[in-house]
Amino acid sequence: MNPDLLDLVQSLRRRAQMSPERFAAPQRFDTHKEVLSAPTVPMAVKKDSLETLAAEIQSCRKCPLGNTRLRAVPGVGSAQAQVMFIGEGPGFEEDHRGEPFVGKSGQLLDKILAAIGLSRETVYIANIVKCHPMINPANPEARGNDRPPSPEEIAACRAYLDRQIRAIAPKVIVTLGAVPMKVLLGSPNESITRIRGQWRVYNPPEGGEPIKLLPTFHPAALLRNPDLKKDVWTDMKNLRDELAKGVR
Ligand code: SF4
Ligand code: URA
Repeated sequence: MNPDLLDLVQSLRRRAQMSPERFAAPQRFDTHKEVLSAPTVPMAVKKDSLETLAAEIQSCRKCPLGNTRLRAVPGVGSAQAQVMFIGEGPGFEEDHRGEPFVGKSGQLLDKILAAIGLSRETVYIANIVKCHPMINPANPEARGNDRPPSPEEIAACRAYLDRQIRAIAPKVIVTLGAVPMKVLLGSPNESITRIRGQWRVYNPPEGGEPIKLLPTFHPAALLRNPDLKKDVWTDMKNLRDELAKGVR
């Protein structure tokens, strides 16, 4: 089948499987009394399972990265995680393995997690975009071909991350580097150096409970500049103390 037609058939199937309540018209109130008795919290939005989301991501072509990826990289970890670590986007290794943070940065991230008693099985690790952004997409087997995601790619992919966050409902989100910090705080001009280590909040776009967010440096930055390690260690101790405060 022609690939465009196949895409169309796949998207139609996906849409048919989506829950009708997601597309339900907003509630209308006809009388004053009804307005007063209306719930003040937003209507519950249906939670996806991580498996459903991963399957959707794996067949996604909402941005051009979907056409050049080897493997989509939805995320890894526990659906019950108390903390989510959010990176920027898959690199060469991740594109080949379908798992986030498995290259050099990932090895360092594993050590950082282990230092405070966490692991990639107990937390959840995901990225802002789920497919590999390349400088030259015509040469997918080249190393050093990674680039940050574009604003269009970030916008196209954003809903997957929001749905992952909603599915997991973590107590804390840790952003790794400038890109996920700017995206999740909605502050494109904020500086990672200025606010790293300061508690912020992620406000889910569909409403609901705000989630504590701790911006820290990306492990790749620590590989380039080991002086930054002490700041990340401070942040991880802070995170450990926050998680030890007890159940949500
Ligand atoms: Fe879809 Fe995100 Fe991959 Fe783009 S990067 S194709 S939006 S999953
Ligand atoms: N860098 C990221 O931001 N994410 C990965 O998954 C790997 C490297």
